[in-house]
Amino acid sequence: MLKHTLNRSHFSYSISYGLLTILLLFLSGCVSLNTLESGGNAILESISDLNIFTDEEETQFGKAYVAEHDKKTRIYRDPIINNYINSLGHSLVRHCKRKDIQYTFKVVDKKGVNAYAVPGGYIYIHLDLIRLAKTESELAAVLGHEIGHIVGQHSMKRLTQIYGVEILKQLILDEDSDELTKLIVDIIAAGYLFKYSRDNERESDMYGVQNIYDAGFNPEGAAKFFESMRNKQASEPSTLEALISTHPIHSERIMNVRNQIKSLPPKNGLRTDSATFRKIKRRIQ
Ligand SMILES: [Zn+2]
Repeated sequence: MLKHTLNRSHFSYSISYGLLTILLLFLSGCVSLNTLESGGNAILESISDLNIFTDEEETQFGKAYVAEHDKKTRIYRDPIINNYINSLGHSLVRHCKRKDIQYTFKVVDKKGVNAYAVPGGYIYIHLDLIRLAKTESELAAVLGHEIGHIVGQHSMKRLTQIYGVEILKQLILDEDSDELTKLIVDIIAAGYLFKYSRDNERESDMYGVQNIYDAGFNPEGAAKFFESMRNKQASEPSTLEALISTHPIHSERIMNVRNQIKSLPPKNGLRTDSATFRKIKRRIQ
């Protein structure tokens, strides 16, 4: 577990890095005087790929949010299911592009198909999603996609983009970093950071497919899971509401995933399913 490392010097470093980036973009003409005049938020909105936070800060915010989230969420405590989901998740993490933070996978006992990633490497998956996955490679594809949001630092970029100026102001005016953590926990809880852009979704899909392929899973699982989602959306749309609200499924996504799978070199022994997965499925039916 990472130590509590939130302190002023980290922030000072990331703020100056963030401000320096803004300044450089301004000097290079990427940010115009008009955007500057229309307010600081506009500047940050035009910098969609900027993350002013360090890994330690991200972990700290995630940890604080998870402490609140888990009090209000029915976490499924069955050790067999938890060990399985963590071992599957970590078999993917070993092949992902961001290994320098600690990942934790948790199962949620709540109706509806859903999965989400919280800043700092916390990935939640609903029991109903495990039930919907027909094979282990489909489940791996979902985990790979959520890991992709952490790899792409999508929530932290969104936090920088939407609240950057407010947060910077708070940091300058307020010495109390606990207050800032509280503010960010509220922002995460409001759900704004889970409203990913199409670009974020595309990037997570891409990371996810590559990740499961590198980890030895059949990447077809990603396309197959999309199909399951589509069928479920037609037959029981309400069960997919939460997942669709943050991960809209559209034909472009399916097409991109199919094209990416086609472009991967053939590889022997790719795993589609396992006896353990089938045992897990029987246990939660
Ligand atoms: Zn997503």
